[in-house]
Amino acid sequence: MTGPCPRTVQPVAATTNKAPSANFSLDIAISLEFSTFITQVGRTNTQEIHSIVDARCLRKYTQSPMKTVFSGIQPSGELHLGNYLGAIRNWVELQNEFFCFFCIVDYHAITQDYTPKEMRGRVLDMATDILACGVDPEKSVLFVQSDVREHTELCWVLNSVSQFGDLSRMTQFKDKSQRQEHNINVGLFDYPVLQSADILLYKGQFVPVGQDQVQHIEFARRLARGFNTRWGKVFPEPEAKLTSTPKIIGLDGKAKMSKSIGNTIPLGATDKQVRKLLAKAVTDPQREKREDVGDPDKCNVYSLHGFFSSEEDKAWVREGCTTAGIGCVDCKTKLGDNLIETLTPIRNRKKELLADPDTVIDILNQGRDKARQSAAKTMDQVRKKLGLWQR
Ligand code: SF4
Repeated sequence: MTGPCPRTVQPVAATTNKAPSANFSLDIAISLEFSTFITQVGRTNTQEIHSIVDARCLRKYTQSPMKTVFSGIQPSGELHLGNYLGAIRNWVELQNEFFCFFCIVDYHAITQDYTPKEMRGRVLDMATDILACGVDPEKSVLFVQSDVREHTELCWVLNSVSQFGDLSRMTQFKDKSQRQEHNINVGLFDYPVLQSADILLYKGQFVPVGQDQVQHIEFARRLARGFNTRWGKVFPEPEAKLTSTPKIIGLDGKAKMSKSIGNTIPLGATDKQVRKLLAKAVTDPQREKREDVGDPDKCNVYSLHGFFSSEEDKAWVREGCTTAGIGCVDCKTKLGDNLIETLTPIRNRKKELLADPDTVIDILNQGRDKARQSAAKTMDQVRKKLGLWQR
C-alpha cells in the first residue's frame, strides 16, 4: 500500500482516516521534492504551488507499481443501498490497494431523459455521498467526466475501431432501448465506446464490475487491442475485476435496486424512514400469517441481513423464520437496527460535508486537475500514433 500524497499540506482536504504508509521511501522522496521545490521557487502563491505539487504527486503515483483502477457511477443524485453495496463500499476497499480514478459519469447520464437544471445538484449529491461513504481524496482521484474533455475526444477515436455489429449485440443497449423506446439515441448505442474511453484514458488495468458489465469490459479490451494493432501500442487491455457482491434486489423483492423503480433505501434516510421503507419490503410469499413458517432463502429481507447482520443475528432469523418463532416485523426490526448502525457514521459525515459544500467542490476540482494531467498525456500519445495535426 502506498501512503498519502504530501498534497495533504493543502487546507481543503476532507478529514479522513488515513491508512499508515507501507512505502516510506516513496513518501519521503515526495516530501523532499516538495521542500526542495518550495525553496527553489521562493514564493507564496499557494494555489500555484499546490497545482505543481499535485502534478508531481500524480506522476510519482502513476509511476508507482500500484495497478490502476477506473470506475464510474452515474450522477443519479443521492446514493442508495444498492449503489453502496454494489459499488461504493468496494471503492473504499480498492483505494487502499490500487491507484484509483473514480468518475461521476455525467456524459453517460445525458443518454437518458433528465432535467438539465437538476444535473449540477445530482453531481454534487453523488460526490457528497461518495465522500461520506469513505472514498478518500488523498488516496483516490474523484472527478466529473465532463470536466475532462479528453473522454469525448478519445471516444471519437475509438469509434473508428468499434464495429457496428459488436455494439448492436450489447445486452444493455437492448434493455435500455426497450425501457426508453421514445428516445433510442446514438449516445445510448455508443455508450460502451465512451465507457471504454473512460477506462483507457487512464490506462485502467482493472475495472470493478458486476457480472452484467463484463460484456462491456470485453468490448473495451477489443478496442484496446484494435487500437494497438492499427496504430501502435498505447493501451493495456483492461480486466474486469468482478465484485463479490451479487445483484442487490430492491424492496419489491423483484428487480435490481434502482432509484427509477423506487425500490431503494437512500443512504441519507432517517432512522424513521429506514424503518418505514423496510416495513414495506416484500418477504417470503409463503409466509402470509404470523404462524406460517417461512424460508429465509426465498426472502429478500434475509439477503439484506447478509450484508448488515452478525452471524448470531442471521442464525436467530433463520431459526425464528423456519419455526414461526419470530414474525416478519421482528425480523425487519432487527435488520433496521443493524442497517442504522452502518448508516449512522455515513450520515454524520454527510452532514459535515453538506455544511461545507465548498469542500466537495474543491475536492472535485483537485480530482479534475489530476485526471486532466493523466488524460492529456494519453491523448498526446494517441494523437502522435494517429498522425494527427500537432502544433
Ligand atoms: S421472518 Fe424474516 S426472513 Fe423470514 S420471511 Fe419474514 S422477513 Fe423474511
